[in-house]
Amino acid sequence: MLRIGILGLQGSVIEHTVMLKRLEDVKPVQVKTADDLDVIDGLILPGGESTTIGRLITDYKLKDRIIERARAGMPVWGTCAGMILLAKHIINDDNVHLGLMNIHVRRNAYGSQLDSFKTVMLIPAVAEYPIPLVFIRAPYVEKADDGVEVLAELDGKIIAVRQGHLLATSFHPELTDDLSFHRYFADIVAKSTV
Ligand code: GLN
Repeated sequence: MLRIGILGLQGSVIEHTVMLKRLEDVKPVQVKTADDLDVIDGLILPGGESTTIGRLITDYKLKDRIIERARAGMPVWGTCAGMILLAKHIINDDNVHLGLMNIHVRRNAYGSQLDSFKTVMLIPAVAEYPIPLVFIRAPYVEKADDGVEVLAELDGKIIAVRQGHLLATSFHPELTDDLSFHRYFADIVAKSTV
């Protein structure tokens, strides 16, 4: 049984939990304390508001332990605000939160006109069929540095990246019915050795 944690401080926590429950051999675990981080095999950082979540992981003394476990190889997947938390560079914000991925992200990158939107796209690394993508005040990756694999681009903007055991998506697979991304992440967790 894989124990996949979901950072449970703010954001779409329940939705990720429901998706993980649909996978065989995965037990979702809500993470609120540093001790919770010791019993999981992988971690999801949900969407929400990155400044708030960034502050809460410091207040709840989770930040250093997440960084430590991720550096030791624990798979981590950030969706939307979670992508911002993982980034080493946030172009339009002075904060750096976990600083684990070699990406330059732009917050709220789609502006007010396209604030929230849905589309459908084929992402060959993840699924054999086009999957639905939901964007809500989403960031995108403006530049990916060494070691980062681009999984998907939409209109020339990078919206899904992988750096070994670290995964980040601009969009919210947990707000759709499609399990492909959760399955893809569970597979990264299953193959990791920590
Ligand atoms: N706009 C949010 C931020 O900058 C992210 C939005 C989301 O996670 N849906 O933190």
